[in-house]
Amino acid sequence: MTDDLRQRLSEAIDDCRTLTPEALADAVFGVVHPELDRLNQEVDYLKRNIRRSRDQVDGYDQELTSAKAAIARMRALHQPTQHMGQTWCTTCSTRRRTGPDTEEWVAYIPHPCPTIDAIEETP
Ligand SMILES: [Zn+2]
Repeated sequence: MTDDLRQRLSEAIDDCRTLTPEALADAVFGVVHPELDRLNQEVDYLKRNIRRSRDQVDGYDQELTSAKAAIARMRALHQPTQHMGQTWCTTCSTRRRTGPDTEEWVAYIPHPCPTIDAIEETP
């Protein structure tokens, strides 16, 4: 109970000392009822905000899950490989087929490559 409501109830009761119990109850209800209506409206407003916030959290959670999956797919693409004693990115480095079972490296991009650096960069 708020101090304001307590004060209004006290004043209503004080004003009704000479009334019958029924009239006193009506006077008290006259103060309490509007307060209950106001509180019900506040509860409805809070329920709507909670529902909206939950929907937003669900949306953010789905976006986060999707972003994490995309990062995992990028990491899986940009794996390190050893060649000529050094570590290179398998995706960013370029190889070309020179035969059915042979290939030739034509561009060497060190691992971690710029893509992995961008993923791991902290803002
Ligand atoms: Zn790469």
